[in-house]
Amino acid sequence: MKKIIYIDMDNTLADYLGMAKQMQIDPSEAKHLKGFFEKLQPMPNAIDSYNKLAEHFDVYILSTGPWSNPHSLYEKVLWVKQHLPKAYKNVIFSHHKDLNIGDYLIDDSIKNGAQDFHGKHIQIGSAAFPTWNDVLQYISEQENIQL
Ligand SMILES: [Mg+2]
Repeated sequence: MKKIIYIDMDNTLADYLGMAKQMQIDPSEAKHLKGFFEKLQPMPNAIDSYNKLAEHFDVYILSTGPWSNPHSLYEKVLWVKQHLPKAYKNVIFSHHKDLNIGDYLIDDSIKNGAQDFHGKHIQIGSAAFPTWNDVLQYISEQENIQL
């Protein structure tokens, strides 16, 4: 059986902060805007990394839609369809990521249950895992595979 990897969207696959900066909006306000999430650009190497991981693991996108902005859920699905067709029907929305059973969670944040995830939380963007390349290198070493 393949191991399971969950991957967050905002600031992990999709460049939330970059778009807020480009639009000159306070990042804490951007999440309330209709149309914001659909416009995000992929993070550097994120798409390529997802596709590489999907060759070896069962990969799911595990994302949280702001409660204040239900349009975000719709826009996130559109984003996945556009950028990650491989994630077909592998999208989970949750404010409780710790309830998902799996081996790895790649997530820039400790919020929405990420901190309490029962597998390994790989905090991309942290000092330990600054980029997607660091994440892939870590998983390659842990699993003894070439990514
Ligand atoms: Mg995030």
